[in-house]
Amino acid sequence: LARLYGPLMQLSNLRVDIMSALVSFERVFEVLDLEPLIVDAPDARPVSGPPSVAFRDVWFTYPDAATVSLESLEPTAAAGESANTPVLRGISFQAEPGQTVALVGPSGAGKTTITHLLARLYDVDSGVVEIAGEDVRRLTLASLQDEIGYVTQDAHLFHDTIEANLRYAKPTATVEELWGALDAAQIAGLVRRLPDGLGTVVGERGYRLSGGERQRFAIARLLLKAPPILVLDEATAHLDSESETLVQRALDTARAGRTAIVIAHRLSTVRHADQILVVEAGRVVERGTHAQLLDAGGAYATLYATQFSD
Ligand code: ADP
Ligand code: MG
Repeated sequence: LARLYGPLMQLSNLRVDIMSALVSFERVFEVLDLEPLIVDAPDARPVSGPPSVAFRDVWFTYPDAATVSLESLEPTAAAGESANTPVLRGISFQAEPGQTVALVGPSGAGKTTITHLLARLYDVDSGVVEIAGEDVRRLTLASLQDEIGYVTQDAHLFHDTIEANLRYAKPTATVEELWGALDAAQIAGLVRRLPDGLGTVVGERGYRLSGGERQRFAIARLLLKAPPILVLDEATAHLDSESETLVQRALDTARAGRTAIVIAHRLSTVRHADQILVVEAGRVVERGTHAQLLDAGGAYATLYATQFSD
């Protein structure tokens, strides 16, 4: 069964990559010759209004590999192999416009899945996911894509110039805007030192960027896209501490004035969140501010004590 998860995971990661680079989903599904699993409702409307986020008693099970139209990628699962269990079991929370909600908890708890349901990469089994007070199933996918920006632990840059990579997010950006975004993302210094500047080709066969540099380019791209809602999923994982500081500074700039969902291992990066949710096995087991959760002396307090004794 694990073998069948591969393509599905890659597909949802691909969609997140696409969302962060602002290429249209429809086009990619066309290129891959796949049936999109999720399409606009006939009466779908664009997102409008202040960017609040709400999950109301959301239950979710990943679609059975055998029922998903990925024939072109993988054989279907044998009958009887579909013992899928819910990954999310009654998730509820709310973020007011401009607030930061942090998700912490063990790997496999369902944190990333929550962020994928926000962009309607999948539909819920039951419950509701809302953006700006509207069920995401009644919003157009194109407007959801504009509404949400992702920074994950693995920023993807196309094999192209720095300028072209940035322009995926905003084709009409002026050169001043490009530099402004690079500046805010703490990466302008590097670009100025490169002999070809904005014309430097990056990506697989181009100029080799470190993980932290790629992250900062992804953040510059995000600043150009300027989505009202930001998802940071382990965005500073795997970085050395110097580069983590720079990326964290860039992320703090990006987060200002936006509604944010932040997933982080290091609790020091989430302590200022308006609300912290501890997620375990698809449920919220604790919630509150950093101070409230330390006072409560539960799972969060234990986790925090462990990290700070290291
Ligand atoms: P976290 O981000 O908290 O580590 P995830 O949301 O990535 O957790 O995963 C929650 C559970 O869902 C895990 O058991 C994981 O194996 C499973 N899962 C994640 N993505 C997929 C997928 N595309 N298809 C099937 N199962 C998945
Ligand atoms: Mg995750």
